[in-house]
Amino acid sequence: MTEFVRTSPLRGPENALTDYSIPAEAPWSGIVRKGQIIRIEDSYGQQAVDTLFYRADDFAERYSSQDTMRAQGAAYIGIGTKIMSNEGNVMLCVSADSCGRHDTSAGACSCESNTVRFGHDTKYLHACRDNFVLEVTKHGMGKRDIVPNINFFMNVPITPSGEMTIVDGISAPGDFVEMVAEMDVLCVVSNCPQINNPCNGFDPTPIRILIWDGEA
Ligand SMILES: [Zn+2]
Repeated sequence: MTEFVRTSPLRGPENALTDYSIPAEAPWSGIVRKGQIIRIEDSYGQQAVDTLFYRADDFAERYSSQDTMRAQGAAYIGIGTKIMSNEGNVMLCVSADSCGRHDTSAGACSCESNTVRFGHDTKYLHACRDNFVLEVTKHGMGKRDIVPNINFFMNVPITPSGEMTIVDGISAPGDFVEMVAEMDVLCVVSNCPQINNPCNGFDPTPIRILIWDGEA
């Protein structure tokens, strides 16, 4: 546990509304109501969790990485970050973080980017974009609804000149991030299946997602 953590001792798996185990490489989606808290746990460490948010009653309003970075004047997601929509509204606030490094610049892996970065023989490997497409279609959306995302637990140092690269993750087993929803949101997750760069320690692992009602 680091100085970043500010979770409540009242919050445990035993009083969570829902407790999901997401297998390695799999997608997930679920609704988080206004005032509820969502925790994304990197159960085994060094696992990137690609994440998108949509307003639950109007999917046209969705996560905006650009507005989130601009609003906070910083490139990374961390404790206190207001997660902004493309309409300029706060969707969620990051209320606890035991890791301290979450990217929202590098985007999601895709079969196409894999071929460019790792060679044509990787074209047929499963990718986050496949996961996102599979999951958003359950909610009536399609490819064009997938926008630049958050990569929880992904370590992407950005140099003063603006260069960036994906390097070894710093998240330990059990590290987590918590967010309080400021509106009803649909959360869509890809438990990243990438095996060609170090964002998952070259070994994708399961994650866990818990949701609680907010304390009075
Ligand atoms: Zn990925």
